[in-house]
Amino acid sequence: MSQLNIFSVLPKGLLDLEAEALHSVLPGPSLIHLEGRQQPPLFVSVLLHGNEDTGWEAVKRILRKYQEIPLPRSMSVFIGNVSAAKLGLRRLDGQQDYNRIWGEGDSTEHRMAQQVLHEMAQKNVYAAIDIHNNTGRNPHYACINRLATPFLHLATLFGRTVVYFIKPDSVLSMAFADLCPAVTLECGRSGDEGGIEHAAELVDACLHQSYLPEHPVAAGDIHLFHTMAIIKVPESLSFHFNGDPNVDITFDAELDSLNFRELPSGTVIGRVNGTASVMLEAWNEQGMDVAELYFEVVNGEIVLKRPVMPSMLTLDERVIRQDCLCYFMERLEFQH
Ligand SMILES: [Zn+2]
Repeated sequence: MSQLNIFSVLPKGLLDLEAEALHSVLPGPSLIHLEGRQQPPLFVSVLLHGNEDTGWEAVKRILRKYQEIPLPRSMSVFIGNVSAAKLGLRRLDGQQDYNRIWGEGDSTEHRMAQQVLHEMAQKNVYAAIDIHNNTGRNPHYACINRLATPFLHLATLFGRTVVYFIKPDSVLSMAFADLCPAVTLECGRSGDEGGIEHAAELVDACLHQSYLPEHPVAAGDIHLFHTMAIIKVPESLSFHFNGDPNVDITFDAELDSLNFRELPSGTVIGRVNGTASVMLEAWNEQGMDVAELYFEVVNGEIVLKRPVMPSMLTLDERVIRQDCLCYFMERLEFQH
């Protein structure tokens, strides 16, 4: 079921449930409006990807804290892909990716997303925080889709590392950017206690805050990166991480140790088996495959043609097929 369920109180027993058990109380994606002292509400989104439960764990922590006392600010919690969470998957086969449904489209999931946006626009939403995990080794970081001061303040409340991107443009934080300061949090791997605590701290800080500062963010408080390209393995090619000679591309089993490292040109990304011309895809913000700007095959190795910094490199083959291998970023000189 992809229709939106709306609640104005916390469903009984919800805070006792792990992500995979939410389906026993919630029939599908759910928006829960909770009253607090200040208005308008903070919007917090969790489990857009069913295997990323840090957001739900952080929200539980916050709501337990305020069980006996009022929330400092109203909060609207969106719990996304309940049916994929049941199975611990990013999404089910045949489902839309819940963090790619916030732009144009007329699937059931797109209409559900529009309903969430409409509800939160009517409530004049204060700020939006969408909480995610990734599967490789990554630092915690916040992503924004606008370089405006309130967005930068919201992001740097989480940490200095901030990633700016405009593609893909169908993500939740992009749609909410039309309504309020919005941020996507990447909190490391699911189940990591540090990520849960870090996300909960940011939510709590936003609940207590009466406004986002107007003054510019100090340059020393931010390391800003711009996503230049999404790197994919072509669907027609097979790949593996352990040197299986029967696949088209072999990646290093430590590939995700390269995340957020500035890699010089010449860095080896993978090895090609056979003589067929094999290339990764690199989709830029204009939707063009610019792989030849980034990669060349030299002596059977896929090497970088220019310096880049990758993020979200993962060893999870299902994630690579469903989403991407990684993103390539460049450092943005921060000016205000
Ligand atoms: Zn995610």
